[in-house]
Amino acid sequence: MNERHQQERGPRSERRAELAANLARVEERIAAACAAAGRHRDEVTLVVVTKTYPADDVRLLWELGVRHVAENRDQEAAGKAQACADTSLTWHFVGQLQTNKVRSVVSYADYVHSVDRVRLVTALSAAAVRQGREIGCLLQVGLEGGVPDGNGAGGGPTGGGRGGAAPGEIDRLADAVAGAQGLRLTGLMTVAPLEGPFRGRPRAAFEALGEISSRVRAVHPAATMVSAGMSGDLEDAVAAGATHVRVGTAVLGVRSRLG
Ligand SMILES: *Cc1c(COP(=O)(O)O)cnc(C)c1O
Repeated sequence: MNERHQQERGPRSERRAELAANLARVEERIAAACAAAGRHRDEVTLVVVTKTYPADDVRLLWELGVRHVAENRDQEAAGKAQACADTSLTWHFVGQLQTNKVRSVVSYADYVHSVDRVRLVTALSAAAVRQGREIGCLLQVGLEGGVPDGNGAGGGPTGGGRGGAAPGEIDRLADAVAGAQGLRLTGLMTVAPLEGPFRGRPRAAFEALGEISSRVRAVHPAATMVSAGMSGDLEDAVAAGATHVRVGTAVLGVRSRLG
């Protein structure tokens, strides 16, 4: 083994050990949350959010047994997905998506969690058909405006800056995805609101998502994915029925720039 090889070994094996320890802690948290909620561990899939971290970290995660990774920016994700093309990782796109990035995202993403408008559905469908791909679509629900009560109050425009369609728009969007070629309606996603009636109440927000999910599943039974919960609130999400938690910081460390 030459000297250069040995120098490269150290940092990479240290990083591997760090990621392995972090993964073990996150795994413990998910297992404990499942046990507390009376759910089986295999009802919840860990999706590791690798944004801002290099492709080599993604590869280490793959070697450590991670099978689902997520990214939120196409310019970053495209190269990382290409660098890891020899793995069988499942790629989730979780960021706000502009229609001019759709063609690229469709080339590597298996799931898009941030479907929030009909125009995006149309663009995703056209790109998927052209590339012979089938994309799993999750509708992102913005809960900043709350949810409508029995009298139709609440659930107004989201405007929270975290993306997502208002709860009242979800049925229409679900039908649009279900009727689009190249797309499968696989579920719903949300990010705990930083403002509005659910501010500081992630558990209540995730329960509201669960109720909307039940409503959607009554019409589209295959839309079973419920993507909710991040490093800080994954327990609330598991308690509220999430099937997928999206965890970045707790696995990879605090991001040095805004992700
Ligand atoms: C960054 C990000 C996450 C992960 O957040 P952490 O707090 O780092 O676990 C989850 N979901 C989305 C949509 C994100 O952008």
